[in-house]
Amino acid sequence: MDGYIYLRKSRKDLEEEKKQAELGNNYNTLDRHRSQLLELAKIKGVHIKGIYEEVVSGEYISERPEMQRMLREVDLGLVDAVLCMDLDRLGRGDMVDQGTIYRVFKNSETVILTPSEIIDPQDENQELTFSIKSLIAREELKTIVKRMQRGRHQSAKEGKSISRKPPYGYLRDENLKLSPDPDCSWVVEMIFKKAANGSGRRAIAEELDRLNIKPPESEHWEGSSIASIIRNEVYLGKIIWGKVKYTKINGKYKKTKMAPEHWHVKENAHEAIVSKELFDLANEKMRARWRPHVRDGKTLSNPLAGLLYCEVCGKAMVMQPRKDRPDSALRCFNHTCKGVQKGCNFSLVEQRILMSLEKHIEQFELPDTAKKKSDSLIKAKEKALSELIKEKEEINKQKNNIHDLLEKGVYDIETFLQRQQVIKEKLNNLENKIVEAEEEINLEKKRIQVNNEYIPRVKNVLEAYYSTDDIEKKNRLLKSVIEKASYLRKKEWSKPDEFEIILHTKI
Ligand SMILES: [Zn+2]
Repeated sequence: MDGYIYLRKSRKDLEEEKKQAELGNNYNTLDRHRSQLLELAKIKGVHIKGIYEEVVSGEYISERPEMQRMLREVDLGLVDAVLCMDLDRLGRGDMVDQGTIYRVFKNSETVILTPSEIIDPQDENQELTFSIKSLIAREELKTIVKRMQRGRHQSAKEGKSISRKPPYGYLRDENLKLSPDPDCSWVVEMIFKKAANGSGRRAIAEELDRLNIKPPESEHWEGSSIASIIRNEVYLGKIIWGKVKYTKINGKYKKTKMAPEHWHVKENAHEAIVSKELFDLANEKMRARWRPHVRDGKTLSNPLAGLLYCEVCGKAMVMQPRKDRPDSALRCFNHTCKGVQKGCNFSLVEQRILMSLEKHIEQFELPDTAKKKSDSLIKAKEKALSELIKEKEEINKQKNNIHDLLEKGVYDIETFLQRQQVIKEKLNNLENKIVEAEEEINLEKKRIQVNNEYIPRVKNVLEAYYSTDDIEKKNRLLKSVIEKASYLRKKEWSKPDEFEIILHTKI
């Protein structure tokens, strides 16, 4: 198998290089990528016939001479594969660029190899990967997430804080290192102490409001943000990465909660705000308080009813109250799962699902700046679209005119046919452009929609979930954002929270 390697720096890479250079480090993105891809070639048995290194960092094909050169060669069918770090290196550009790349690779039957996947444009489903259809907002987001994760993983290993915002109570410097914020780190400590003394999340939130302490984002403190502060090990000085993993199965991404032994933990990444003892006590007290009410009689008792399924056999997981303990158990009662799937505490699973939802939306949240950019992009594109439509109307008028001119004898038949042909081509061309523009606008809108609708919806659901005891309501809330979830706990997994939940959300 013959192949080319294509290398290009992203804006992010350039920024990183600059940053490293200021610190006196020698950090060359292309060198690193080249050796990674040569390694990949070795593993996959690809004979490298050429390496294309883009020195400019243009997003569009038209701005990148090496890409143009390579596309011409690929178009001629000279190789079987092109190796690059990810599809975005070939081109994010716009729909036209994506379409061009897609067609060239598809027609020449050339595959794209990246360290994480093989993309075969011949495969019908792969159209999605190339943002050809307007439905791909979802796939787009996933690619963005994945690319972000690769870089973020490295940063986390170095003890850098990579959350969208620095955690409440900390300041973050330009090297992404955290230090306690004298203005509010004491609030964090207070929250932990109150929880350790047995106050519930809502009581703590109300008290902070009474004390006029401003919450990080909204107007009022919410129980859920108190809970996530208490659960956050960042306050112990740790940076933790890898709690969830995305895997692609049959073209769909699955999110898996990883068992704690697979987490990447950077200890002493920054100064702790609370001691281990205080942290553990607060968490223990919070867990103990949090018990879903189970009702007798015919009302629904399981908020996860119709949502949680056994990963092994696909049957619904059953909630089973236990006389001797306050917390119910969760089991798969299918006989084939006997000795295969272990049951566990219901409330641990419930908590895990809620936490996963919280983390899930964090991944997709765009910073405000990106939202604004998206808004103005849509406006610009809508303007361009209305220009195209106007132009089309204009040409339609011309089309009528030539008929008049033919009738009046100004045109002979031959001139008429020629003119008609020219106009027909113009119209076809415009119609294609209009369809393209509409697709692009839809794509952007979809992306904004996820941020404006889905994320706030999940936040509302979480908030409402914590503040109601009505099991049926809890169940409805979860069903409004989760398609389903599956549960796995192998026989040998002995710790109470050693189980896996895979969430299928309605994003
Ligand atoms: Zn089962």
